[in-house]
Amino acid sequence: MPICQCCGRKWPYKEVIKSFFIINRQGQKCIYCGAAQFQTVGSSQRFVTLTLPVWILILILANILHLSLMRIVISAFAGSFISVVLIYPFALELSSHRSGSLGGKKG
Ligand SMILES: [Zn+2]
Repeated sequence: MPICQCCGRKWPYKEVIKSFFIINRQGQKCIYCGAAQFQTVGSSQRFVTLTLPVWILILILANILHLSLMRIVISAFAGSFISVVLIYPFALELSSHRSGSLGGKKG
């Protein structure tokens, strides 16, 4: 689970899932200290990398099972849901600055 870079407290699962929908646009306020937190570039990349196998699996299964377009769309939604619920909370890394880890070092 991600840790607030301002107060050092771990965000609860529910806040992390909520942040998926808003954190990239305006940042999200920490529920403990109120500081705006942003997703680091590194954690965005990590999330994409970790969800890639889910999408490849969906494409392979769609091809093998000759799924209709409707079933492919449903599978894509399921894949997105699984990615957000299971992978995102562990991929998210917070930064107090919008530019996050752009050119920055992790310490
Ligand atoms: Zn905080």
